[in-house]
Amino acid sequence: MGKPVEMPIRDPWFERREVAPGITWVLEPSVNGFLRSNIWHVRGRDRDLVVDAGMGISPLRSAYPDLFKGDVLAFFTHGHYDHTGGAHEFERRASHVAEAVMLSEPEEATLVTADLPQSFAAALTAEAPDGVTPPFLVDALPYAGYDVSGYTIAPAPVTDPLADGDVIDLGDRVFEVVHLPGHTPGSAALIDRDSGVLFTGDVLYDGELLDELPESNIDDYVASMQRLLSLDAAIAYAGHEPPLSRDDVQRLGSAYLAQRSG
Ligand SMILES: [Zn+2]
Ligand SMILES: [Zn+2]
Repeated sequence: MGKPVEMPIRDPWFERREVAPGITWVLEPSVNGFLRSNIWHVRGRDRDLVVDAGMGISPLRSAYPDLFKGDVLAFFTHGHYDHTGGAHEFERRASHVAEAVMLSEPEEATLVTADLPQSFAAALTAEAPDGVTPPFLVDALPYAGYDVSGYTIAPAPVTDPLADGDVIDLGDRVFEVVHLPGHTPGSAALIDRDSGVLFTGDVLYDGELLDELPESNIDDYVASMQRLLSLDAAIAYAGHEPPLSRDDVQRLGSAYLAQRSG
């Protein structure tokens, strides 16, 4: 147990917003912008879909019992802990098969800046508005006495390993798995080809894309971005930052490709 840390309490921990009929965006405002990821809930006729599950700092399902009820499949766009910290709360967990080991054997995770790799800590400092390195990756606690230094990720083995082209059928909407390696080997998107709704994970969002992590591959990323653009999504719900219009997707994706071919 670490020393108690003085920080404001944020309760409820999450915020939610319905962004389209049956599609709800859940996020964790008190997580540092470097890690603050999106959780997407899609209401289906026969079952619901959750895309990514946030940091796992505070219980997700009990925060919104009306949302997380009944039959739900949780799909993980990839295995980084800002997306999988809450994975253990779901009984049915899907990811691309190449990413499954990252859920059953989670990476080291921390909320303490001093415990981060030096490059990560330096990036945090560079982005801090006042130039002061934030001591933690959260600016509030979910409840008084929360042990920030005790943060870990619970193993959450994948029950439904999926491959490119596999489908997740909600009854009235069908999502197809699109394997888009590069950020990680098993990064995958989901697309509803009828509506053009695309969940991109960390392959595309409005921010600096990470293709130089130890588990990344730039050549794969470039090929995946070309494929993503060819999907011609009408709207993209990304792993970080707000939803992207068709034009946003083309602009941001093209900018990445230009940067990497330049
Ligand atoms: Zn990631
Ligand atoms: Zn991420």
